Amino acid sequence: MTALAAAPRNGELGFWMVGLADKRTSYPRFTGDDSVDLAIIGGGYTGLWAAYFAKKLEPSLSVAVFEAEQIGYGASGRNGGWLSAMPAGNRAKFARASEGGVEASRALQQEFVAGVDAVLDILQAEGIDADQKKSGALVAAHTKAGLGRLVARRDADWKYGLSEDDVYLIGRDEFQKEINISTVHGGLVYKHCARLQPAKLVHGLADTLTSMGVSIYEGSRVGSIDGKTLTLDSGRMTAAKTFVCTEGYSGQLLGSRSLIPINSSMIVTKPLSDEAWQQIGWKGPQCLSDSAHTFIYAQRTADGRIAIGGRGKPYRYGSGTGGAGATAQSTIDLLSTKLRTFFPDTNFEVDHAWSGVLGVTRDWNGGVQWDQASGFGSSTGYAGHGVTAAYLGGRTLAELAFERKTQRTSLPWVGYRAPKWEPEPIRWLGVHGMYRLFGVADQWEERRDSTKTSLLARFGSRLAGLHE
Ligand SMILES: Cc1cc2nc3c(=O)[nH]c(=O)nc-3n(C[C@H](O)[C@H](O)[C@H](O)COP(=O)(O)OP(=O)(O)OC[C@H]3O[C@@H](n4cnc5c(N)ncnc54)[C@H](O)[C@@H]3O)c2cc1C
Repeated sequence: MTALAAAPRNGELGFWMVGLADKRTSYPRFTGDDSVDLAIIGGGYTGLWAAYFAKKLEPSLSVAVFEAEQIGYGASGRNGGWLSAMPAGNRAKFARASEGGVEASRALQQEFVAGVDAVLDILQAEGIDADQKKSGALVAAHTKAGLGRLVARRDADWKYGLSEDDVYLIGRDEFQKEINISTVHGGLVYKHCARLQPAKLVHGLADTLTSMGVSIYEGSRVGSIDGKTLTLDSGRMTAAKTFVCTEGYSGQLLGSRSLIPINSSMIVTKPLSDEAWQQIGWKGPQCLSDSAHTFIYAQRTADGRIAIGGRGKPYRYGSGTGGAGATAQSTIDLLSTKLRTFFPDTNFEVDHAWSGVLGVTRDWNGGVQWDQASGFGSSTGYAGHGVTAAYLGGRTLAELAFERKTQRTSLPWVGYRAPKWEPEPIRWLGVHGMYRLFGVADQWEERRDSTKTSLLARFGSRLAGLHE
């Protein structure tokens, strides 16, 4: 049973950031009137990686990163810590949109695979400790229909560039030897995935940037961009080039219908006993997810806790971003129940709950945009797969802006434009409708022991643009 003795901490940017409170570097507020070669708006992974690669390409460049709150305030400080090879979007859609077709989409997939190791190599080279460990990922199927979806997913993975060694199916017994989930029917194993502590990655990158001469400003919201001029509450910056790296918070600068903030919520348990870990297994520690329509994602933390996330309240009317991430008790209960169902013999105490927002385009495909004439670009729309995508997007943006032609600059997500979201209240109804249908579909598949994916889920995917 989950102990309800003490209420968990709630919000406060989440467990990862709270853990760094007295260790993290703070950065000044920008004031005055200045000019810079490159201005980056947003102090999450995308902005920080873009600054890193811009400085690597052009060491003499003056670069300033403007963060409205504190670095890692957004999803980068709050996520599930999966550094995975899952691309930021649907590969079939990228293939259809690209002249290169399936081959172009395979190239994108392979850059995500390469991205996992590239990030790990950079962390090692720069001496950044983010509790990173590459142990792969397991995706559990709790129903026959869910298992069917994993077979289809594996086939699509093989079609779009992963090998039989990169991703493969395992049966129930094999799965339970890795992680002893009571409800599992079988699962998929992904080789290219690492677990990390998200906020440590943010601060490790920022410390590295400071040593490279990048200026980072916190509490420095860019209110508007007019040509080469960025206006902040406290000053003005003229920039030859500007990157917008604001993901789920992009409505203000990129337009409220370009991408919307979709909520994701997490809880973390108190550290588990050695005995509990004996029951559960999970020594890898592999990242863990499942094939439910309302899926979860989880990791075993470096200090022996389980951090698990899922949807909760999916979307706030008018693209609200949820502040510091206070989370409804119903969502905490939902995620705790998942844990109790997976591991019925283990006691869990929830230590902290929080939420954050993903940036989601109308067709759930991300994109890197760069316009040489205006000197303006962005990398956004990663949906739930942004840790590796932010590295790849930030790097690609720097390469495009400083005119380096690489294998990344011609990938099909470069210049990809998703359709616009509908105005309210249609998008609120659409997103909430999709998640309601997903919830009902999960229950239906479980109760009926169905081998087929519910039509309701197919309809929900179509409604919100998630279908192929
Ligand atoms: C709960 C949760 C779990 C997730 N789990 C995973 C996972 O396990 N694996 C994975 O791959 N992805 C995951 N994601 C997604 C991933 O975290 C994000 O895609 C990624 O961190 C996005 O990075 P970013 O730098 O583009 O955006 P953010 O990290 O959101 O950074 C944007 C920043 O811009 C700032 N900002 C906004 N407007 C302005 C302005 N006008 N001026 C200045 N600054 C501004 C914000 O304050 C914010 O700090 C998860 C997301 C959430 C919310």
